[in-house]
Amino acid sequence: MQKLILASNNAKKLKELSALLSPLGIALIPQGELGVSEAEEPHCTFLENALAKARHAAAATGLPALADDSGLCVDALLGAPGVQSARYAGEPKSDARNNEKLLAALQNERNRRARFVSLLVLVRHAEDPQPLVAEGEWQGEILHAPRGEGGFGYDPLFLDLESGVASAELPPEVKNQRSHRGKAIAALLVKIREQWTDVR
Ligand code: IMP
Repeated sequence: MQKLILASNNAKKLKELSALLSPLGIALIPQGELGVSEAEEPHCTFLENALAKARHAAAATGLPALADDSGLCVDALLGAPGVQSARYAGEPKSDARNNEKLLAALQNERNRRARFVSLLVLVRHAEDPQPLVAEGEWQGEILHAPRGEGGFGYDPLFLDLESGVASAELPPEVKNQRSHRGKAIAALLVKIREQWTDVR
């Protein structure tokens, strides 16, 4: 099996990505298992932060590394909360306070267009000049009040335009099919098959 470091210690992400990558002969190892510290995420784009995390993990282990960065971008807020999505309302991070802040920021705002964005970056080594980059977007609108009990983060305020249902009202398997993350993972799998000749 080809080993790939996951530049995250999130158990849910590890499970989801492992299931998709194991048929390709790729075993995912969370970076914490090899004692790799969390990377800094100082940049203003998802792409730069994901790349920084992947490089950091590859440099620390000498192995190929996969990283992701995701968040919510609201048109009327010039893309905010963006890379600050997890900590929009400050420390300690709180989904409830983030959602309250978002509703307040959009009070009296008629343009409620928004999208979830997921960026995945895979580097074969720390100086890889051609990282594999895959992006997924999920278009929606910000509701005026929370709806639904499922999901996490901004899911109760995010209206899926296609189904007319809040993300927090969708069963997990339906959300995974529609979501930014699901689309980014599908796009990355295509690129791995096409461009990562070691594991074909
Ligand atoms: P992370 O990249 O998984 O750490 O996500 C960053 C932040 O973006 C999360 O803490 C959430 O606030 C938000 N976010 C990302 N994906 C989703 C989603 O699928 N639903 C709701 N919020 C999300």
